[in-house]
Amino acid sequence: NAHPSKVAKDLSAPNDLEAWWLPFTANRAFKQKPRMVARAKGMYYYTPDGREVIDGAAGLWCCNAGHNRDEITAAIQAQAAELDYSPAFQFGHAGGFALASRIAQLAPGDLDHVFFCNSGSEAVDTALKIALAYWNVQGQGSRTRLIGRERGYHGVGFGGISVGGIVKNRQFFGTLLAGVDHLPHTYNRAEQAFSRGEPEWGAHLADELERIVALHDASTIAAVIVEPMAGSTGVLPPPKGYLQRLRQICDKYGILLIFDEVISGFGRLGTTFAAERYGVVPDMITFAKGVNSGTVPMGGVLVRKSIHDAFMKGPDHVIELFHGYTYSGHPLACAAGLAAQDIYRDEKLFERAKTLEPVWADAIHGLKGLPNVLDIRTIGLVGAIDLASRPDAVGARAYEAMDRGFQEEGLMIRVTGDTIALSPPLIVTEDQIGEIADKLARIIRKVA
Ligand code: PLP
Repeated sequence: NAHPSKVAKDLSAPNDLEAWWLPFTANRAFKQKPRMVARAKGMYYYTPDGREVIDGAAGLWCCNAGHNRDEITAAIQAQAAELDYSPAFQFGHAGGFALASRIAQLAPGDLDHVFFCNSGSEAVDTALKIALAYWNVQGQGSRTRLIGRERGYHGVGFGGISVGGIVKNRQFFGTLLAGVDHLPHTYNRAEQAFSRGEPEWGAHLADELERIVALHDASTIAAVIVEPMAGSTGVLPPPKGYLQRLRQICDKYGILLIFDEVISGFGRLGTTFAAERYGVVPDMITFAKGVNSGTVPMGGVLVRKSIHDAFMKGPDHVIELFHGYTYSGHPLACAAGLAAQDIYRDEKLFERAKTLEPVWADAIHGLKGLPNVLDIRTIGLVGAIDLASRPDAVGARAYEAMDRGFQEEGLMIRVTGDTIALSPPLIVTEDQIGEIADKLARIIRKVA
């Protein structure tokens, strides 16, 4: 039943790659030589022709429990058969409340309330909006300024790209939000190269917030948002003491601190949230991805009790926050979330990430000395390898590593610029860590 204007096209071909405009993808190169995935199980993807591909990236940093876990599949199937959808505007369902309570229990301090949405981008925009609205209900409506960080990635909504610090994600999209400033990023190769975990150098960069406060005055600043570990811009672990210092400065000036834990949440750094690893309680935490091991789109914001309670005023029948999504707390996403959280708890996967951290670090740092390797960083079950760029072709070497890794070596990795980023599912075994490192070594030699 194609539209009449389309009858000339052969839309019956099952493998027609034309219509889907892939996100964050070199579409023309992909469509000339596609990297297709047909199914997955545990640590592995399988291509349509049955080749095994080990997942070095947990999908997109999200499949923390590994792929196609039977318990999650069963929970999604049962939920779809019981309650496919119900609105969360003025109505509720048990799964949403159960998952929110579960996440609140896992969060540090008085991060007691959860606002659900459907992605990391929505979680970020939601957190920024809650921060702005909070200052309004507190009678401090002049606090409108949002502070992000260079090399931050906070998704692709207008809020997220405004506080984010990736030039390509910003330069084509107009004027963005007004009243945004940025902290400097924390990476310095000369001071930090080949560090394991948090680098020693760089805590002083948090003091740049003092400079920003001096420039704008605290009375105009609503919130600071940072990823505890910048993931998408190439895995930049926080310098020792940096996040603690940011918290101190935010406290000094009454500025809200938001941790974007879309990647670091749910075990990636060996604790439920990075906030726990660093002993810092932010005012809000954004999460997504690992909440249900990437199985159904879901994101959310954990909010401190005092912020939530500030909204709970006025007549009872009046909506307290004019914000939400049709699919906020979708029943299938919640069912998947509860099943994933059971797996994380029963298999102690967050502790597993902590135990494996040194094994992982040894394996990935073992690639030092291979051709073009400029730096290697590891933290938790995350790693990054910076490769030297080819003359006049930034990104080409890592792109080739990603492509040949998938096509020839059976390894899925994520690349950004000429950096290879790694984040295997938390079920990875020591042997599989070795398998990933061996494949990487061969790939890095091939793209020399
Ligand atoms: N925030 C961070 C820290 C992320 O790493 C990401 C995605 O990688 C996002 C936000 C955006 O999430 P999504 O792609 O689900 O919108």
